[in-house]
Amino acid sequence: MQGFDPDRISVRSAHFIGGRYVEGGSNTIDVKRPSDGVNYAGLPVADADLVDQAVQDSRNAFKNSDWARCAPRERARILRRWADLIEADVKTLAPLEALGSTRPIRDAAGWDLPFTAEGIRFYAEWADKIGGEVASTRADHLGMTIAEPYGVIGAVVPWNFPLVTTSWKVGPALAAGNAMVLKPSEMTPFSVLRMAELAVEAGVPKGIFNVVQGDGRTTGDALCRHPGIAKVTFTGSTRTGAAIMAACAESGTKAVTLELGGKSPQVVFADVHDLEKTARTVARAITTNAGQVCVAGSRLIVQKSIADQFVERLSAIFAELKPGSTWEPETTLCPIISSREMERIDGIVQRTAAQGGRIVTGGQGISMGNGGAFYQPTILTDVDQHMEAIRNEIFGPVISVQTFDDEAQALALADHPDYGLAAGVHTADIGRALRLARGIEAGTVWINRYGRTADFVIPTGGYKRSGIGKDLGRQAYEANLRTKSVLVDFSE
Ligand code: NAD
Repeated sequence: MQGFDPDRISVRSAHFIGGRYVEGGSNTIDVKRPSDGVNYAGLPVADADLVDQAVQDSRNAFKNSDWARCAPRERARILRRWADLIEADVKTLAPLEALGSTRPIRDAAGWDLPFTAEGIRFYAEWADKIGGEVASTRADHLGMTIAEPYGVIGAVVPWNFPLVTTSWKVGPALAAGNAMVLKPSEMTPFSVLRMAELAVEAGVPKGIFNVVQGDGRTTGDALCRHPGIAKVTFTGSTRTGAAIMAACAESGTKAVTLELGGKSPQVVFADVHDLEKTARTVARAITTNAGQVCVAGSRLIVQKSIADQFVERLSAIFAELKPGSTWEPETTLCPIISSREMERIDGIVQRTAAQGGRIVTGGQGISMGNGGAFYQPTILTDVDQHMEAIRNEIFGPVISVQTFDDEAQALALADHPDYGLAAGVHTADIGRALRLARGIEAGTVWINRYGRTADFVIPTGGYKRSGIGKDLGRQAYEANLRTKSVLVDFSE
């Protein structure tokens, strides 16, 4: 897709409740374009009263519309139509996504949108697949479990892939017959509104998918604590995930799904078939979206005999990237979401260097002369398990390098004390690959690749403090259902 002029895109700054845009809220937040720092909209913050209005509206829609009761294939048909509308809306939706987020227009149009639409189609296909089970009881009883929707599910999502993450929440929730009230990130609030508008156009009853805008402390917290919310599904940082879990417990125990942060290793053995291909895979895993990806492969663990050569290749590949605004089609290195986030990233890099780490390449911001926040793809060597760059999620284009002699050392280094979201293993030895796949404590292990494919059937989610439960796959669909047990006694 071509580039676009950001000043020609207008946004509707509102909430979306009951099938229409709703103004109102306690105050406003400035929303900036990460590519040039321009303040392009003021976002209304939904207070507890407005959140209450959105949840009540969704509850009414859940109870009074046919959404939960209609033939599941009818729900599926509407969801498929929604997916088609999203895909067909590329000229509006892709620039809207690119404008305020870090997603370059080419990626937003060529990947995010089709991935969002196909994810919704994937869940539409589940709508009539899981209804429950018949239990093996004595012959004069009939026991069954009936799968039922929860009611209204509250969703809170981050800024890094606004449309895609929303589809992972709303797709399975709606396919299973639930209603949803979703709060996007206050940094990327607008594309999701358009998505909600298209849902109504596709035939999703008004109120089944409501969107409330605002910050986490006011709007997000009020949503998670609302008694009308039956379950909360969250994607974001581990710290916020813990706060949400506490809020859910304090407000009367609710089920939670938490997709949280990561510090994922990429383990490279000297026997890889194609060193160049592996180097490109490793580089992509830390520079896609400028490393602002939950599963970013931020810890390279490479066999000593090829380490220097491999780091050299990585540096050369990093140098090929072209930083630029998200509205320029040639951009291959996107901005950091905000200058504050960029300073945080740089702080971790500089403190690690002060602790003895060595900056081999990168290590500072890139000035584009336009107020945008960009950071050089960075390689840190001479690091150990106690340094900040190894311990903490950086969420930027920064990769640390540790070396090993043998498999046992590789496995020990791959293990992280806190996180367990994903891992990559690169080797020509299938036995070794499978030993590591078993051995590494992570929710996903990729062998000789890194990153998700369009296989929506494979779930994603973390071990340890990287999360609870799964997005994607059958698991995410089932997580949007609760089970009722029914026992019929027809004995004489
Ligand atoms: P964040 O935790 O700061 O914010 C995420 C969302 O939570 C935002 O909408 C925010 O407004 C809201 N929020 C903040 N405090 C809240 C509170 N007390 N109550 C309710 N809501 C609150 O995360 P972020 O900076 O937007 O996103 C980056 C993080 O998300 C990284 O840690 C990344 O790893 C993680 N992430 C994880 C996955 C995954 O699938 N595991 C995917 C994408 C991002």
